[in-house]
Amino acid sequence: MSSQGMSSQGASSTRTLVVGGGLAGLLAARRHQRAGHRVVLLEAGEQVGGAIAAQTLDRAGGLALNTGAEAWSTASGAVDALARELGLESRIVSPREGLGSRLVSAAGAHRSPAGALLGVPGRPLSAEVREVLGTTGALRAALEPLLPRRVGNRPGATVAEVVRRRLGSAVLERLVAPIIGGVHSADPALIELAAASPALAKGLAEHGSLVRTVRRLRGGAGGKGAAGSAGTRVHALTPTLAALPAALHDAILGAGGIVRTGVEVVGLDRGEGRWQVRTAAGETLETDRLVLACPPDTARTLLAGVGRTDKDRTDQDHTAERARTIAAAIPETPSAPVRLVALALDAPALDAHPSGTGALVAPGTPGIRAKALTHASAKWEHVQRALAEALPSAQAPHLVRLSYGRPGEQLPDQAGIVDLALADASAILRTPLTRDHLVDAAVIDWDRAMRQPRPGHRAALDALTALLDAQDDLELVGSWRAGTGIDAIVRADRSLTERSLTHRSLTATTEGPAA
Ligand SMILES: Cc1cc2nc3c(=O)[nH]c(=O)nc-3n(C[C@H](O)[C@H](O)[C@H](O)COP(=O)(O)OP(=O)(O)OC[C@H]3O[C@@H](n4cnc5c(N)ncnc54)[C@H](O)[C@@H]3O)c2cc1C
Repeated sequence: MSSQGMSSQGASSTRTLVVGGGLAGLLAARRHQRAGHRVVLLEAGEQVGGAIAAQTLDRAGGLALNTGAEAWSTASGAVDALARELGLESRIVSPREGLGSRLVSAAGAHRSPAGALLGVPGRPLSAEVREVLGTTGALRAALEPLLPRRVGNRPGATVAEVVRRRLGSAVLERLVAPIIGGVHSADPALIELAAASPALAKGLAEHGSLVRTVRRLRGGAGGKGAAGSAGTRVHALTPTLAALPAALHDAILGAGGIVRTGVEVVGLDRGEGRWQVRTAAGETLETDRLVLACPPDTARTLLAGVGRTDKDRTDQDHTAERARTIAAAIPETPSAPVRLVALALDAPALDAHPSGTGALVAPGTPGIRAKALTHASAKWEHVQRALAEALPSAQAPHLVRLSYGRPGEQLPDQAGIVDLALADASAILRTPLTRDHLVDAAVIDWDRAMRQPRPGHRAALDALTALLDAQDDLELVGSWRAGTGIDAIVRADRSLTERSLTHRSLTATTEGPAA
């Protein structure tokens, strides 16, 4: 499928081709277009948006639900600004205040402490933290600001290493592991702190303490109240977050760009100073600039193949060789498969919102396989309203979404997963839920979207950036470089925009105004 904008693109004849129409690719396309390039975006799937996607539940009156990302962090304000720029301001929504979320572990279900970052508490002796950790665990955590800066502070250190050494095992197992598992689909022993939370790693290096860093970032030394309850520093869009990629798609078309879906890129080559891009359908497109916004393993394969198709040809500009060097510098960032189960339920007992907005489940919690549950209709008033409209005869319609897929564990089978999800939801929400309550269900698989940065990831990315800085006709973007999450991707795109504006103004002052 191909969509082309009506108005003409910039006057420049420079052509940019973007491979991948997830958020990172759409933002890159818009950025290049704003720089005056003619842009073509190729997306392998049938829709743009990548891990920001939606579908409808037919038996639940056509209710639209997020099948991937559901909200963005408001910490930097970058995504809010983007949404406003795209004319989506009136569709921005906040979660319900005051419900809080839960942490479920072998020790029971507890309210998630407010004012934490990646589970690291800003106030280790607060009642909420003591309830989860016990007094001994909380006292151990409270010692952290007194430890020498060097404890656990080593380049490439994993989350588990830093947190266990500085805050103790209880913080790691009960507060941090559920978040690393539930949000990053990763094992704290295998994920680098600097990649999971650049802010925490930087704060530890600068202030010598994780707890002090969290307090600074989460609002004042007292911290109390300033941070809001856990999970509320997010915004979403009505009816679903898919409105964000849809608006970017429209903006690209509106400025004369071309977006083609269902087009998989399978090969790259170089010749006469341009890139040749081969598609699965056997088409070859030429471009001056190339943006790879596909997963890192695809980018590596594509770049490693440059110049290998025609063995007799010598590359005039050595870019083929440089492409292969860049391919080799792309760090291994394995994907963590995630299986989601959305349940539309008619269950009056859920009106009490027994787990607040939802829960993260610590690894090893007996009797529960899900790693997280979002009670979407408790968290978001717009979801509750949409459910009431879609299911007017239901007594108490609710939407919950559970996620499965812990590192090193097999995903639960498709067959029987709805019953497993009902059992897990019953345990997490402490409310018996059976097929009698079920209105509709959807099972969604994400095989490649969640990336797990391994120790050394940050240093590898720095080395890769140095290589890419020397080659301005190639760009690699995506969450594996920017960091997981919509906010990280938008911020990374914004800093590339700022860099290119600085570059252009420097060029203009040294060479006179561009034609
Ligand atoms: C289940 C789930 C829930 C999440 N929840 C949240 C959340 O609530 N908040 C948050 O901030 N973040 C969340 N995230 C993370 C966030 O959605 C991602 O970090 C972000 O959307 C990734 O964007 P991307 O452009 O880097 O990659 P992707 O979205 O993966 O896009 C890559 C695109 O490249 C395309 N592609 C791949 N190969 C080719 C090829 N050869 N040719 C052409 N196209 C190709 C793919 O089809 C895909 O569309 C979630 C992720 C998942 C999976």
